[in-house]
Amino acid sequence: MIYFIGAGPGDPELITVKGRKILSSCDVVIYAGSLVNPLVLKYAKGNARIYDSSRMDLDEIVEVMKDAHQRGMDVARLHTGDPSLYSAVREQAGKLEKLGIPYDIIPGVSSFCAASAALKRELTLPGVSQTVIITRIPGRTPVPENEDLQKLSTHRATLVLFLSAGNMEDAVGRIIGSYGPDAPAAVVYKASWEDEKVVRGKLKDIALKAKNEGIEKTALLIVGNALGDNFELSKLYSPDFSHGFRGARK
Ligand code: SAH
Repeated sequence: MIYFIGAGPGDPELITVKGRKILSSCDVVIYAGSLVNPLVLKYAKGNARIYDSSRMDLDEIVEVMKDAHQRGMDVARLHTGDPSLYSAVREQAGKLEKLGIPYDIIPGVSSFCAASAALKRELTLPGVSQTVIITRIPGRTPVPENEDLQKLSTHRATLVLFLSAGNMEDAVGRIIGSYGPDAPAAVVYKASWEDEKVVRGKLKDIALKAKNEGIEKTALLIVGNALGDNFELSKLYSPDFSHGFRGARK
């Protein structure tokens, strides 16, 4: 069996209990060395064979999986954060399906969750934004035209930009017309790692502030009024709002 495991954002304690359990039972481990914290590997079996996929191409990765499977070994394939976002899991899974090799996916804590925690800011706030847009700006990998950042920004939902730390000025230029120069913005570098950095500012100055901190990669840009301080109280805990678990107090 091949297990695609979300290794979490960095802090080795942010892998799930299930992910850790499976990792510690696998004979072969392939980890995305460019982003997965190597400290997570301490959960692997002492004699596990460990591969760093940042030095491998798709066919090489699948070859290691196939070889292990044929020998009756389980493989832990560690991806950073949660495998549901920008993980290239699908292409690996597709090859496994063609080969008839079974696999499972174990979710993880995405870096945007760790960034929200570092900022101590919920990304959805009543009366402010109930929507989070997770996207990126085009780099070497394009973004479909109808998901152009400028178009997405017209909703002024909370925006979380992955894979864009090297192009922050470009990103800001595309959204500042909709969000406005004074919109709250933050950059979180290596959320939950020991060298995490949190930069807070406004849309008009966030790119420069992040640059001054030397941040060029492994960071998220988060923009929107949910980072600000004006919001309504939620209905969930309101005394005069009843729901399935609690009647209204009069
Ligand atoms: N699947 C991952 C994302 C992989 S794409 C997840 O769920 O988080 C890689 C991008 O994720 C990086 O360019 C960066 O934008 C972001 N990223 C990954 N780990 C991060 C961290 N600890 N802090 C901030 N951003 C991170």
